[in-house]
Amino acid sequence: MSRSSSLHISLDHLAFNYERLKELISHQKTLFMVKANAYGHGDLQLIHFAEKELGLQEFGVASVHEALRIRQELPDLKHDLYVFSDTSLQQYFSAYYDRRIIPVLHHLDDLRFFLGSSDFRFVPLCLKFNTGMNRLGFREDEITEVIKLLKAAQRKTLFHFCSHFACADQSREHPLNQAQYQKFQALKQRFKDEGFELERTSMANSGAIEQNLAVKNETHVRPGLMLYGPSALAPEIRADRWQGKMLSCLKTEILDIYPVSESSPVGYSGTLTDKEGTLVILPLGYGDGWKNTYSNSSVFCEGFEGKVFGRVSMDMTHVLFPSAAQKTLKKGQELELWGACQETFLTLAQQVKTIPYEILCGLSPRLPRIYYQ
Ligand SMILES: *Cc1c(COP(=O)(O)O)cnc(C)c1O
Repeated sequence: MSRSSSLHISLDHLAFNYERLKELISHQKTLFMVKANAYGHGDLQLIHFAEKELGLQEFGVASVHEALRIRQELPDLKHDLYVFSDTSLQQYFSAYYDRRIIPVLHHLDDLRFFLGSSDFRFVPLCLKFNTGMNRLGFREDEITEVIKLLKAAQRKTLFHFCSHFACADQSREHPLNQAQYQKFQALKQRFKDEGFELERTSMANSGAIEQNLAVKNETHVRPGLMLYGPSALAPEIRADRWQGKMLSCLKTEILDIYPVSESSPVGYSGTLTDKEGTLVILPLGYGDGWKNTYSNSSVFCEGFEGKVFGRVSMDMTHVLFPSAAQKTLKKGQELELWGACQETFLTLAQQVKTIPYEILCGLSPRLPRIYYQ
């Protein structure tokens, strides 16, 4: 028997979103970002489906531990698996050539280590540049040294050349977006002028792809969020650009329902109701990743709007609906916190002052993931 709260994941919606993505790009290939357990959806299931059914051939994670687990659990996965940030290159060096994992190099020490070891000769050389975000990546003042090291090692072919935007959720005209984009183009040119061949290049994540920023001059795009459904753009500039469907639907059911009068204490710390209403108890709490900070957010059921009321507990949430809902809502009735339509989900993110990424990544392992097609 499954739990009453669960995350239903539609693989068809992943296919739908990928079709929509292909309308936004032309010849570019997609490097699907599946870090953080595919943004909470389950990386193994999604990679398997994306490879077999959608023909995707490149996947990206953040840490070598994620990559090793994926390789172990999906021994038939033939395609490229990149590690973008926590490569632990010098500690896990053999993982990279034994398990066909591609480290994204972003530090001079790692580059020297990589070039100095003959074991890495057949590992694709992938470099990430800091074009103004100031997180990871080779900095401007290191480029001369990077070029010198590559030339000394006679590595003239760069497998993947990439950078990352700081403000892809903001307008493409944002000065930092424009500056980073220009810097990336100049960097590519500098390497070409130095005689390097750049096989693959990428910069665009979801927010950039949605705005057609850093797509056309590159061989690849690196979407994460948009393929899971939501737009990555800030609410002010979201417009109607991205029509993705949510892969996930967070379902639960009504554990109990009863009328409460004004000034009734509810839950831990006894938050007092400010009006009478219908109180609904859901078997969902921060143990599932449904956080305390989601208090006061809207919950919709049968055309009624309720509000998450008082403190969210580890295993339960109270929602205060209008009194009129008492006649319609029933114990045992199914309720969706969000479904295929992005709007409900994006409204939640906005109401609880967070971003879609954090809600999805925060869903805990206790919440069963149920896949369907
Ligand atoms: C996570 C990540 C992406 C995807 O970002 P989204 O905003 O989810 O599309 C792309 N590139 C890198 C390097 C990342 O770490």
